[in-house]
Amino acid sequence: MGFTNEQLERYSRHIILKEVGVKGQKRLLEGKVLIVGAGGLGAPAALYLAAAGVGTIGIADADTVDLSNLQRQVIHTTPDIGKTKVQSAKETMLAINPEITVNTYYKFVTSENIMELVSEYDFIIDGTDNFPAKFLINDACVLAKKPFSHAGIIRFQGQLLTYVPGESPCYRCVFREPPPPEAVPTCRQAGVIGAMGGVIGSLQAMEAVKYLIGKGDLLTGHLLTYDALSMSFRKIKLPRRDDCAVCGTHPTITKPFDYEQAGCDLKL
Ligand SMILES: [Zn+2]
Repeated sequence: MGFTNEQLERYSRHIILKEVGVKGQKRLLEGKVLIVGAGGLGAPAALYLAAAGVGTIGIADADTVDLSNLQRQVIHTTPDIGKTKVQSAKETMLAINPEITVNTYYKFVTSENIMELVSEYDFIIDGTDNFPAKFLINDACVLAKKPFSHAGIIRFQGQLLTYVPGESPCYRCVFREPPPPEAVPTCRQAGVIGAMGGVIGSLQAMEAVKYLIGKGDLLTGHLLTYDALSMSFRKIKLPRRDDCAVCGTHPTITKPFDYEQAGCDLKL
């Protein structure tokens, strides 16, 4: 693939980097990234991946833009209120970079559709806000042998880890099972500083970019935690568990399934 003059200019700050160059930019343009959730984490991730020229970006979300989203979901604007989040996100991404392809999935991601969805992409970003979705994405990615970035934010705190098949512990190695719904507040109940999504969602985009260009060390085998109030990042080493139910030596989970979470907000 040759670059047009416009592409050379658009991506000049990438191409000038020795770690990216023409080859790396070509990989980004050929790359396919799925973002599950067009909310606080998915918004900055989608903006940066679109701007970076990731050639195909899928975005899945079953929600519509609400006034209370705008404090942190920076891909949506006030005139977007009432639109589906995937449509609003697509319009913003294409306004930044009209040469990419954005596939929208206006639906809940479930055990029924997730394997087909992830099979079409090189890297998956978990931008969801609830434990059942996070375990579903983990299990599907492990089973489909797809790398993904997990992240979560609440209040002034965030966390992040990257899974690469065959190389690193998965999300279930660390957390095993979702906590009981009553044990954990959602962002709606607990609150979250908008910029937390910017910090952590941008780190997820960075992991996807590094994976696609094949440079640097991914956040595998570690959980990165961020506490904004004390301005501290910690990188905690994680072991891979032989007895993990999905990635262990004798897995008991062989296909994705949905956790019941009665009365809880399952919107992605
Ligand atoms: Zn595991």
